[in-house]
Amino acid sequence: MSDTAAAAAALLDRIQAPEGQGREIPDAATRETIGRAPVQTVTDLDDAIARAKAAQPAWEALGHEERSALLLAAADAIDAHAEPLAWILSREQGKPLNGPNARFELGACSAWLRTNATTVLEPEVLVDDADLHAELVYKAAGVVGAIGPWNWPLMITIWQIGPSLRMGNTVVAKPSEYTPLSVLAMLAVMNDVLPADVLIGVSGDREVGARLASHPDIDKIMFTGSTATGRRIIESSAGNLARLTLELGGNDAGIVLPGTDPAAIAQDLFWGAFINTGQTCAAMKRLYVHDSIYDQVVDAVAEIAASTPMGNGLDEENVLGPLQNKAQFDIVSRLVEDARRRGARIVTGGEPAPELGELFYRPTIVADIEDGAPLVDEEQFGPVLPVIRYTDVDDAFARANGLDAGLGASVWSSDPEAAREAATRMQSGTVWINSHGGLHPMVPFGGVKSSGYGLEFGVAGLKSVSVTQVVSGPGRRG
Ligand code: NAD
Repeated sequence: MSDTAAAAAALLDRIQAPEGQGREIPDAATRETIGRAPVQTVTDLDDAIARAKAAQPAWEALGHEERSALLLAAADAIDAHAEPLAWILSREQGKPLNGPNARFELGACSAWLRTNATTVLEPEVLVDDADLHAELVYKAAGVVGAIGPWNWPLMITIWQIGPSLRMGNTVVAKPSEYTPLSVLAMLAVMNDVLPADVLIGVSGDREVGARLASHPDIDKIMFTGSTATGRRIIESSAGNLARLTLELGGNDAGIVLPGTDPAAIAQDLFWGAFINTGQTCAAMKRLYVHDSIYDQVVDAVAEIAASTPMGNGLDEENVLGPLQNKAQFDIVSRLVEDARRRGARIVTGGEPAPELGELFYRPTIVADIEDGAPLVDEEQFGPVLPVIRYTDVDDAFARANGLDAGLGASVWSSDPEAAREAATRMQSGTVWINSHGGLHPMVPFGGVKSSGYGLEFGVAGLKSVSVTQVVSGPGRRG
Protein backbone atom coordinates (compact mmCIF):
# COMPACT_ATOMS: atom_id res chain seq x y z
CA MET A 1 0.00 0.00 0.00
CA SER A 2 1.36 3.46 -0.90
CA ASP A 3 1.82 6.10 1.79
CA THR A 4 -1.17 8.01 0.40
CA ALA A 5 -3.37 4.91 0.36
CA ALA A 6 -2.36 4.15 3.96
CA ALA A 7 -3.09 7.72 5.08
CA ALA A 8 -6.45 7.58 3.28
CA ALA A 9 -7.29 4.26 4.97
CA ALA A 10 -6.44 5.77 8.37
CA LEU A 11 -8.72 8.75 7.65
CA LEU A 12 -11.53 6.45 6.52
CA ASP A 13 -11.17 4.43 9.72
CA ARG A 14 -11.84 7.57 11.72
CA ILE A 15 -15.24 8.17 10.13
CA GLN A 16 -16.65 5.00 8.65
CA ALA A 17 -19.23 2.67 10.20
CA PRO A 18 -17.94 -0.42 12.04
CA GLU A 19 -17.35 -3.60 10.04
CA GLY A 20 -20.66 -5.17 9.03
CA GLN A 21 -22.61 -1.94 9.57
CA GLY A 22 -23.42 1.13 7.49
CA ARG A 23 -23.80 1.40 3.73
CA GLU A 24 -21.07 0.28 1.35
CA ILE A 25 -19.73 3.06 -0.87
CA PRO A 26 -18.28 1.99 -4.23
CA ASP A 27 -15.24 3.32 -6.05
CA ALA A 28 -16.88 5.18 -8.97
CA ALA A 29 -14.34 3.81 -11.46
CA THR A 30 -13.87 0.18 -10.36
CA ARG A 31 -17.10 -0.33 -8.35
CA GLU A 32 -15.04 -1.97 -5.54
CA THR A 33 -16.20 -1.06 -2.05
CA ILE A 34 -14.02 1.66 -0.56
CA GLY A 35 -15.69 2.07 2.83
CA ARG A 36 -18.89 2.01 4.85
CA ALA A 37 -20.87 5.23 5.26
CA PRO A 38 -22.54 5.61 8.64
CA VAL A 39 -26.31 5.60 8.16
CA GLN A 40 -27.57 8.10 10.68
CA THR A 41 -31.21 8.51 11.50
CA VAL A 42 -33.55 11.40 12.03
CA THR A 43 -33.02 10.95 15.79
CA ASP A 44 -29.25 11.28 15.33
CA LEU A 45 -29.90 14.42 13.32
CA ASP A 46 -32.13 15.92 16.02
CA ASP A 47 -29.34 15.26 18.54
CA ALA A 48 -26.76 16.91 16.25
CA ILE A 49 -28.94 20.01 15.82
CA ALA A 50 -29.43 20.25 19.60
CA ARG A 51 -25.66 20.11 20.13
CA ALA A 52 -25.02 22.69 17.41
CA LYS A 53 -27.63 24.97 18.92
CA ALA A 54 -26.06 24.67 22.37
CA ALA A 55 -22.58 25.42 20.97
CA GLN A 56 -23.62 28.45 18.91
CA PRO A 57 -23.66 31.29 21.50
CA ALA A 58 -20.10 30.58 22.68
CA TRP A 59 -18.85 30.27 19.09
CA GLU A 60 -20.38 33.62 18.16
CA ALA A 61 -19.06 35.17 21.39
CA LEU A 62 -15.49 34.21 20.45
CA GLY A 63 -15.49 37.14 18.04
CA HIS A 64 -14.27 37.47 14.47
CA GLU A 65 -10.56 37.43 15.22
CA GLU A 66 -10.54 34.17 17.14
CA ARG A 67 -12.91 32.49 14.72
CA SER A 68 -10.73 33.66 11.87
CA ALA A 69 -7.63 32.13 13.50
CA LEU A 70 -9.44 28.81 14.03
CA LEU A 71 -10.70 28.73 10.44
CA LEU A 72 -7.19 29.45 9.16
CA ALA A 73 -5.99 26.52 11.27
CA ALA A 74 -8.76 24.39 9.72
CA ALA A 75 -7.53 25.40 6.25
CA ASP A 76 -3.99 24.38 7.26
CA ALA A 77 -5.36 21.04 8.48
CA ILE A 78 -7.01 20.46 5.08
CA ASP A 79 -3.75 21.27 3.32
CA ALA A 80 -1.85 18.90 5.59
CA HIS A 81 -4.22 16.06 4.58
CA ALA A 82 -4.80 17.19 1.00
CA GLU A 83 -3.28 14.16 -0.71
CA PRO A 84 -5.20 11.42 1.19
CA LEU A 85 -8.39 13.49 0.99
CA ALA A 86 -7.91 13.87 -2.80
CA TRP A 87 -7.36 10.13 -2.99
CA ILE A 88 -10.64 9.35 -1.19
CA LEU A 89 -12.45 11.98 -3.27
CA SER A 90 -11.05 10.57 -6.50
CA ARG A 91 -12.22 7.05 -5.68
CA GLU A 92 -15.62 8.00 -4.27
CA GLN A 93 -16.55 10.71 -6.77
CA GLY A 94 -14.60 9.38 -9.75
CA LYS A 95 -12.76 12.60 -10.65
CA PRO A 96 -9.09 12.06 -11.44
CA LEU A 97 -6.39 13.26 -9.08
CA ASN A 98 -4.83 15.22 -11.90
CA GLY A 99 -6.20 18.06 -14.08
CA PRO A 100 -8.93 20.40 -12.78
CA ASN A 101 -10.18 17.62 -10.54
CA ALA A 102 -9.49 16.13 -7.08
CA ARG A 103 -6.25 17.92 -6.09
CA PHE A 104 -7.63 21.09 -7.63
CA GLU A 105 -10.79 20.68 -5.49
CA LEU A 106 -8.76 20.30 -2.29
CA GLY A 107 -6.75 23.41 -3.21
CA ALA A 108 -9.99 25.32 -3.71
CA CYS A 109 -11.26 24.16 -0.29
CA SER A 110 -8.39 25.67 1.66
CA ALA A 111 -8.25 28.78 -0.56
CA TRP A 112 -11.96 29.50 -0.08
CA LEU A 113 -11.76 28.83 3.65
CA ARG A 114 -8.83 31.23 4.03
CA THR A 115 -10.73 33.93 2.18
CA ASN A 116 -13.82 33.32 4.33
CA ALA A 117 -11.65 33.52 7.44
CA THR A 118 -10.14 36.87 6.52
CA THR A 119 -13.03 38.66 4.82
CA VAL A 120 -14.55 41.41 6.94
CA LEU A 121 -18.19 42.41 7.01
CA GLU A 122 -18.43 45.81 8.69
CA PRO A 123 -21.63 47.39 9.99
CA GLU A 124 -23.09 49.81 7.43
CA VAL A 125 -23.81 53.36 8.54
CA LEU A 126 -27.23 54.18 7.11
CA VAL A 127 -27.82 57.69 8.46
CA ASP A 128 -25.40 59.84 10.41
CA ASP A 129 -26.71 63.37 10.86
CA ALA A 130 -27.56 65.74 13.66
CA ASP A 131 -30.73 63.86 14.62
CA LEU A 132 -30.07 60.22 13.87
CA HIS A 133 -27.29 57.65 13.82
CA ALA A 134 -28.52 54.39 12.32
CA GLU A 135 -26.39 51.36 11.48
CA LEU A 136 -27.09 48.00 9.89
CA VAL A 137 -25.29 45.28 11.85
CA TYR A 138 -24.77 41.70 10.62
CA LYS A 139 -25.10 38.93 13.19
CA ALA A 140 -25.04 35.14 13.07
CA ALA A 141 -28.30 33.58 11.92
CA GLY A 142 -27.94 30.68 14.41
CA VAL A 143 -27.68 27.07 13.25
CA VAL A 144 -27.07 26.54 9.54
CA GLY A 145 -28.05 23.33 7.74
CA ALA A 146 -25.71 22.57 4.83
CA ILE A 147 -27.03 20.10 2.25
CA GLY A 148 -24.69 19.18 -0.56
CA PRO A 149 -24.53 17.34 -3.90
CA TRP A 150 -22.14 14.66 -5.17
CA ASN A 151 -20.33 16.43 -7.99
CA TRP A 152 -17.92 18.77 -6.10
CA PRO A 153 -18.71 17.44 -2.63
CA LEU A 154 -15.80 18.94 -0.70
CA MET A 155 -15.59 22.33 -2.37
CA ILE A 156 -19.34 22.93 -2.18
CA THR A 157 -19.37 21.88 1.50
CA ILE A 158 -16.69 24.48 2.19
CA TRP A 159 -18.69 27.11 0.24
CA GLN A 160 -21.58 26.41 2.59
CA ILE A 161 -19.81 26.01 5.92
CA GLY A 162 -16.89 28.47 5.59
CA PRO A 163 -18.92 31.71 5.52
CA SER A 164 -21.41 30.29 8.02
CA LEU A 165 -18.73 29.52 10.61
CA ARG A 166 -16.98 32.80 9.92
CA MET A 167 -20.13 34.74 10.83
CA GLY A 168 -20.58 32.86 14.13
CA ASN A 169 -23.14 30.27 13.07
CA THR A 170 -22.73 26.63 13.95
CA VAL A 171 -23.34 24.11 11.18
CA VAL A 172 -24.88 20.70 10.67
CA ALA A 173 -23.74 19.38 7.29
CA LYS A 174 -25.41 16.55 5.39
CA PRO A 175 -23.38 15.27 2.46
CA SER A 176 -24.95 13.60 -0.54
CA GLU A 177 -25.62 9.91 0.05
CA TYR A 178 -23.37 9.26 -3.00
CA THR A 179 -20.28 10.98 -1.57
CA PRO A 180 -20.40 10.92 2.24
CA LEU A 181 -16.94 9.49 2.97
CA SER A 182 -14.84 12.27 1.46
CA VAL A 183 -16.97 14.94 3.15
CA LEU A 184 -16.94 13.25 6.56
CA ALA A 185 -13.17 12.77 6.29
CA MET A 186 -12.65 16.47 5.54
CA LEU A 187 -14.94 17.50 8.42
CA ALA A 188 -12.99 15.19 10.77
CA VAL A 189 -9.73 16.88 9.80
CA MET A 190 -11.27 20.33 10.36
CA ASN A 191 -12.71 19.22 13.69
CA ASP A 192 -9.22 18.38 14.93
CA VAL A 193 -8.78 22.14 15.35
CA LEU A 194 -12.33 23.51 15.80
CA PRO A 195 -14.20 23.58 19.13
CA ALA A 196 -16.63 20.73 19.77
CA ASP A 197 -20.02 20.82 18.05
CA VAL A 198 -19.59 23.94 15.94
CA LEU A 199 -19.37 21.74 12.83
CA ILE A 200 -21.21 18.42 12.82
CA GLY A 201 -21.52 16.05 9.86
CA VAL A 202 -24.57 13.81 9.64
CA SER A 203 -24.50 11.09 7.04
CA GLY A 204 -27.97 9.97 6.08
CA ASP A 205 -30.38 9.62 3.23
CA ARG A 206 -32.98 11.95 1.71
CA GLU A 207 -35.20 11.58 4.77
CA VAL A 208 -32.43 13.08 6.91
CA GLY A 209 -32.02 15.89 4.37
CA ALA A 210 -35.75 16.60 4.49
CA ARG A 211 -35.73 16.69 8.30
CA LEU A 212 -32.71 19.01 8.33
CA ALA A 213 -34.50 21.44 6.01
CA SER A 214 -37.70 21.43 8.05
CA HIS A 215 -36.28 21.27 11.60
CA PRO A 216 -37.63 24.07 13.84
CA ASP A 217 -34.15 24.87 15.24
CA ILE A 218 -32.57 25.44 11.83
CA ASP A 219 -32.24 29.13 11.00
CA LYS A 220 -30.64 28.98 7.57
CA ILE A 221 -30.32 26.37 4.84
CA MET A 222 -27.47 26.39 2.38
CA PHE A 223 -28.54 24.00 -0.36
CA THR A 224 -26.82 22.92 -3.54
CA GLY A 225 -28.50 20.31 -5.66
CA SER A 226 -31.30 19.80 -8.10
CA THR A 227 -34.13 22.24 -8.77
CA ALA A 228 -36.68 19.56 -7.80
CA THR A 229 -35.17 19.18 -4.31
CA GLY A 230 -34.80 22.96 -4.05
CA ARG A 231 -38.56 23.32 -4.50
CA ARG A 232 -39.15 20.84 -1.67
CA ILE A 233 -36.85 22.84 0.59
CA ILE A 234 -38.79 26.02 -0.19
CA GLU A 235 -41.94 24.21 0.93
CA SER A 236 -40.26 23.11 4.19
CA SER A 237 -39.20 26.68 4.89
CA ALA A 238 -42.86 27.66 5.17
CA GLY A 239 -42.77 25.76 8.47
CA ASN A 240 -39.53 26.92 10.11
CA LEU A 241 -39.05 30.19 8.18
CA ALA A 242 -35.42 29.21 7.59
CA ARG A 243 -33.64 31.62 5.28
CA LEU A 244 -32.51 29.90 2.11
CA THR A 245 -29.61 30.02 -0.29
CA LEU A 246 -30.46 27.73 -3.19
CA GLU A 247 -27.83 26.84 -5.79
CA LEU A 248 -29.80 24.67 -8.17
CA GLY A 249 -29.44 23.04 -11.54
CA GLY A 250 -28.17 24.87 -14.58
CA ASN A 251 -28.23 24.50 -18.33
CA ASP A 252 -25.57 27.06 -19.21
CA ALA A 253 -25.38 28.32 -22.78
CA GLY A 254 -22.30 29.60 -24.58
CA ILE A 255 -22.55 31.76 -27.70
CA VAL A 256 -19.65 32.05 -30.14
CA LEU A 257 -20.01 35.30 -32.07
CA PRO A 258 -19.12 35.56 -35.78
CA GLY A 259 -15.51 36.43 -36.56
CA THR A 260 -14.07 34.42 -33.65
CA ASP A 261 -10.92 32.37 -34.20
CA PRO A 262 -11.91 28.73 -33.46
CA ALA A 263 -8.36 27.60 -32.69
CA ALA A 264 -7.93 30.34 -30.08
CA ILE A 265 -10.97 29.26 -28.05
CA ALA A 266 -11.20 25.48 -28.57
CA GLN A 267 -9.34 24.44 -25.40
CA ASP A 268 -11.29 26.79 -23.17
CA LEU A 269 -14.58 25.75 -24.78
CA PHE A 270 -13.73 22.14 -24.11
CA TRP A 271 -12.88 22.60 -20.43
CA GLY A 272 -15.80 24.97 -19.96
CA ALA A 273 -18.03 22.03 -20.82
CA PHE A 274 -16.06 18.97 -19.70
CA ILE A 275 -14.65 20.03 -16.32
CA ASN A 276 -15.31 17.22 -13.84
CA THR A 277 -16.39 15.12 -16.84
CA GLY A 278 -19.30 17.52 -17.36
CA GLN A 279 -20.72 16.97 -13.86
CA THR A 280 -20.52 20.62 -12.89
CA CYS A 281 -23.44 22.91 -12.15
CA ALA A 282 -21.98 25.86 -14.02
CA ALA A 283 -20.44 23.93 -16.91
CA MET A 284 -21.37 24.88 -20.45
CA LYS A 285 -24.16 22.51 -21.44
CA ARG A 286 -25.16 23.88 -24.87
CA LEU A 287 -23.05 25.81 -27.32
CA TYR A 288 -24.44 28.13 -30.02
CA VAL A 289 -21.98 28.78 -32.87
CA HIS A 290 -22.37 31.12 -35.83
CA ASP A 291 -22.81 29.36 -39.15
CA SER A 292 -19.68 31.01 -40.63
CA ILE A 293 -17.36 29.17 -38.20
CA TYR A 294 -19.62 26.29 -37.09
CA ASP A 295 -17.72 23.43 -38.73
CA GLN A 296 -14.32 24.65 -37.59
CA VAL A 297 -15.46 25.04 -33.97
CA VAL A 298 -17.15 21.62 -33.94
CA ASP A 299 -14.06 19.93 -35.41
CA ALA A 300 -11.61 21.72 -33.09
CA VAL A 301 -13.54 20.85 -29.92
CA ALA A 302 -14.19 17.28 -31.10
CA GLU A 303 -10.48 16.76 -31.71
CA ILE A 304 -9.71 17.75 -28.13
CA ALA A 305 -12.56 15.59 -26.79
CA ALA A 306 -11.30 12.55 -28.69
CA SER A 307 -7.74 12.91 -27.45
CA THR A 308 -8.26 13.82 -23.78
CA PRO A 309 -7.34 10.87 -21.52
CA MET A 310 -10.23 9.28 -19.62
CA GLY A 311 -9.93 6.46 -17.11
CA ASN A 312 -9.33 5.52 -13.50
CA GLY A 313 -8.72 8.70 -11.56
CA LEU A 314 -5.78 7.32 -9.58
CA ASP A 315 -3.74 7.05 -12.80
CA GLU A 316 -1.92 10.34 -13.18
CA GLU A 317 -2.34 10.51 -16.96
CA ASN A 318 -6.15 10.68 -16.80
CA VAL A 319 -8.04 13.97 -16.61
CA LEU A 320 -11.57 12.70 -17.32
CA GLY A 321 -13.31 10.05 -15.22
CA PRO A 322 -16.56 8.07 -15.01
CA LEU A 323 -20.05 9.31 -14.29
CA GLN A 324 -20.40 9.23 -10.53
CA ASN A 325 -23.45 7.00 -10.39
CA LYS A 326 -25.63 4.74 -12.51
CA ALA A 327 -28.63 7.11 -12.49
CA GLN A 328 -26.51 9.87 -14.05
CA PHE A 329 -24.95 7.43 -16.51
CA ASP A 330 -28.47 6.44 -17.62
CA ILE A 331 -29.51 10.09 -18.09
CA VAL A 332 -26.48 10.76 -20.31
CA SER A 333 -27.02 7.58 -22.36
CA ARG A 334 -30.72 8.34 -22.83
CA LEU A 335 -30.13 11.92 -23.99
CA VAL A 336 -27.47 10.91 -26.52
CA GLU A 337 -29.56 8.02 -27.88
CA ASP A 338 -32.51 10.37 -28.30
CA ALA A 339 -30.31 12.88 -30.17
CA ARG A 340 -29.05 10.12 -32.47
CA ARG A 341 -32.63 9.00 -33.20
CA ARG A 342 -33.54 12.57 -34.11
CA GLY A 343 -30.80 12.60 -36.74
CA ALA A 344 -28.21 14.68 -34.88
CA ARG A 345 -24.60 14.05 -35.89
CA ILE A 346 -22.38 12.31 -33.32
CA VAL A 347 -19.01 13.86 -34.15
CA THR A 348 -17.05 11.91 -31.54
CA GLY A 349 -17.96 9.55 -28.71
CA GLY A 350 -21.67 8.83 -28.43
CA GLU A 351 -21.36 5.56 -26.55
CA PRO A 352 -20.23 4.07 -23.24
CA ALA A 353 -16.59 3.04 -22.79
CA PRO A 354 -17.05 -0.39 -21.10
CA GLU A 355 -13.38 -1.27 -21.39
CA LEU A 356 -12.70 1.52 -18.85
CA GLY A 357 -15.45 0.48 -16.44
CA GLU A 358 -19.20 0.30 -15.97
CA LEU A 359 -19.90 4.05 -15.62
CA PHE A 360 -17.58 5.51 -18.25
CA TYR A 361 -19.08 7.35 -21.22
CA ARG A 362 -16.85 8.60 -24.03
CA PRO A 363 -16.40 12.38 -24.35
CA THR A 364 -19.10 13.24 -26.87
CA ILE A 365 -19.71 16.14 -29.25
CA VAL A 366 -23.13 16.24 -30.91
CA ALA A 367 -23.62 18.55 -33.92
CA ASP A 368 -26.58 19.46 -36.16
CA ILE A 369 -29.00 19.43 -33.27
CA GLU A 370 -31.73 21.95 -32.47
CA ASP A 371 -33.38 23.50 -29.46
CA GLY A 372 -36.28 21.33 -28.35
CA ALA A 373 -34.17 18.15 -28.35
CA PRO A 374 -33.91 16.89 -24.75
CA LEU A 375 -30.09 16.90 -25.00
CA VAL A 376 -30.28 20.68 -25.47
CA ASP A 377 -33.22 21.48 -23.21
CA GLU A 378 -32.40 19.22 -20.24
CA GLU A 379 -29.33 19.31 -18.02
CA GLN A 380 -27.14 16.40 -19.20
CA PHE A 381 -24.59 16.68 -16.36
CA GLY A 382 -22.07 14.50 -18.13
CA PRO A 383 -19.35 14.41 -20.82
CA VAL A 384 -21.55 15.49 -23.73
CA LEU A 385 -21.82 18.84 -25.49
CA PRO A 386 -24.52 19.65 -28.06
CA VAL A 387 -23.44 22.33 -30.55
CA ILE A 388 -26.23 24.31 -32.21
CA ARG A 389 -25.83 26.33 -35.43
CA TYR A 390 -27.22 29.86 -35.70
CA THR A 391 -27.19 32.57 -38.36
CA ASP A 392 -28.73 35.55 -36.56
CA VAL A 393 -27.11 36.82 -33.34
CA ASP A 394 -30.39 38.09 -31.87
CA ASP A 395 -31.91 34.68 -32.48
CA ALA A 396 -28.97 32.99 -30.70
CA PHE A 397 -29.53 35.12 -27.58
CA ALA A 398 -33.27 34.43 -27.71
CA ARG A 399 -32.61 30.68 -27.86
CA ALA A 400 -29.93 30.79 -25.16
CA ASN A 401 -32.38 32.64 -22.91
CA GLY A 402 -35.31 30.45 -23.89
CA LEU A 403 -34.96 27.95 -21.06
CA ASP A 404 -35.96 28.37 -17.44
CA ALA A 405 -32.37 28.00 -16.14
CA GLY A 406 -30.00 30.83 -15.36
CA LEU A 407 -26.85 29.83 -13.48
CA GLY A 408 -23.98 30.76 -15.82
CA ALA A 409 -23.50 31.67 -19.48
CA SER A 410 -20.66 32.75 -21.75
CA VAL A 411 -20.01 34.84 -24.82
CA TRP A 412 -16.97 34.13 -27.02
CA SER A 413 -15.42 36.56 -29.48
CA SER A 414 -12.07 37.73 -30.83
CA ASP A 415 -13.38 41.22 -30.11
CA PRO A 416 -13.66 41.38 -26.29
CA GLU A 417 -15.43 44.75 -26.49
CA ALA A 418 -18.20 43.27 -28.67
CA ALA A 419 -18.44 40.31 -26.29
CA ARG A 420 -18.68 42.58 -23.25
CA GLU A 421 -21.47 44.57 -24.88
CA ALA A 422 -23.36 41.42 -25.76
CA ALA A 423 -22.74 39.66 -22.43
CA THR A 424 -25.42 41.32 -20.34
CA ARG A 425 -28.08 40.12 -22.76
CA MET A 426 -27.67 36.69 -21.20
CA GLN A 427 -30.21 35.84 -18.49
CA SER A 428 -27.88 34.24 -15.95
CA GLY A 429 -26.35 34.89 -12.54
CA THR A 430 -22.86 35.03 -14.07
CA VAL A 431 -21.76 35.63 -17.64
CA TRP A 432 -18.17 34.92 -18.62
CA ILE A 433 -16.32 36.34 -21.61
CA ASN A 434 -14.04 33.95 -23.53
CA SER A 435 -14.11 31.40 -20.72
CA HIS A 436 -16.78 29.46 -18.85
CA GLY A 437 -17.09 28.46 -15.21
CA GLY A 438 -14.16 30.25 -13.53
CA LEU A 439 -14.91 31.20 -9.91
CA HIS A 440 -13.16 33.40 -7.35
CA PRO A 441 -13.75 33.41 -3.58
CA MET A 442 -14.38 37.18 -3.56
CA VAL A 443 -16.71 37.26 -6.59
CA PRO A 444 -20.35 36.47 -5.76
CA PHE A 445 -21.92 33.45 -7.44
CA GLY A 446 -25.59 32.50 -7.67
CA GLY A 447 -28.36 31.76 -10.11
CA VAL A 448 -31.48 33.40 -11.49
CA LYS A 449 -34.69 31.80 -12.84
CA SER A 450 -34.95 28.11 -11.80
CA SER A 451 -31.25 27.98 -10.94
CA GLY A 452 -32.01 29.34 -7.50
CA TYR A 453 -31.53 32.45 -5.45
CA GLY A 454 -29.07 33.94 -2.99
CA LEU A 455 -25.39 34.68 -3.46
CA GLU A 456 -22.34 32.79 -2.22
CA PHE A 457 -18.73 34.05 -1.88
CA GLY A 458 -17.20 37.36 -0.89
CA VAL A 459 -18.92 39.93 1.27
CA ALA A 460 -22.30 39.11 -0.30
CA GLY A 461 -21.83 35.50 0.79
CA LEU A 462 -21.20 36.54 4.40
CA LYS A 463 -24.36 38.63 4.34
CA SER A 464 -26.40 35.67 3.18
CA VAL A 465 -25.52 33.63 6.28
CA SER A 466 -26.32 36.52 8.62
CA VAL A 467 -29.36 38.22 10.02
CA THR A 468 -29.45 41.98 10.12
CA GLN A 469 -30.21 44.31 12.98
CA VAL A 470 -30.72 48.04 12.72
CA VAL A 471 -29.22 49.95 15.63
CA SER A 472 -30.85 53.34 15.75
CA GLY A 473 -29.94 56.13 18.18
CA PRO A 474 -29.51 59.87 18.63
CA GLY A 475 -27.46 61.76 16.08
CA ARG A 476 -24.53 64.10 16.55
CA ARG A 477 -26.62 66.68 18.40
CA GLY A 478 -26.91 64.04 21.13
P1 NAD B 1 -30.16 16.28 -5.33
O1 NAD B 1 -31.11 17.42 -5.28
O2 NAD B 1 -30.67 14.96 -5.74
O3 NAD B 1 -29.50 16.05 -3.89
C1 NAD B 1 -28.81 17.08 -3.23
C2 NAD B 1 -28.89 16.85 -1.72
O4 NAD B 1 -30.22 17.04 -1.26
C3 NAD B 1 -28.47 15.46 -1.27
O5 NAD B 1 -27.65 15.60 -0.13
C4 NAD B 1 -29.81 14.81 -0.91
O6 NAD B 1 -29.71 13.81 0.07
C5 NAD B 1 -30.59 15.98 -0.37
N1 NAD B 1 -32.04 15.84 -0.39
C6 NAD B 1 -32.80 15.02 -1.14
N2 NAD B 1 -34.11 15.22 -0.91
C7 NAD B 1 -34.20 16.19 0.02
C8 NAD B 1 -35.26 16.89 0.65
N3 NAD B 1 -36.54 16.60 0.38
N4 NAD B 1 -34.96 17.87 1.52
C9 NAD B 1 -33.68 18.20 1.77
N5 NAD B 1 -32.62 17.58 1.22
C10 NAD B 1 -32.88 16.59 0.35
O7 NAD B 1 -28.99 16.78 -6.27
P2 NAD B 1 -27.71 15.95 -6.78
O8 NAD B 1 -28.18 14.97 -7.80
O9 NAD B 1 -26.88 15.51 -5.64
O10 NAD B 1 -26.86 17.10 -7.51
C11 NAD B 1 -26.94 17.36 -8.88
C12 NAD B 1 -27.69 18.64 -9.14
O11 NAD B 1 -27.13 19.68 -8.37
C13 NAD B 1 -27.61 19.11 -10.57
O12 NAD B 1 -28.87 19.56 -11.00
C14 NAD B 1 -26.65 20.28 -10.51
O13 NAD B 1 -26.81 21.23 -11.54
C15 NAD B 1 -26.93 20.84 -9.18
N6 NAD B 1 -25.78 21.59 -8.69
C16 NAD B 1 -25.89 22.95 -8.59
C17 NAD B 1 -24.80 23.69 -8.17
C18 NAD B 1 -24.89 25.18 -8.06
O14 NAD B 1 -24.00 25.79 -7.49
N7 NAD B 1 -25.96 25.80 -8.53
C19 NAD B 1 -23.61 23.05 -7.84
C20 NAD B 1 -23.54 21.67 -7.95
C21 NAD B 1 -24.64 20.95 -8.37
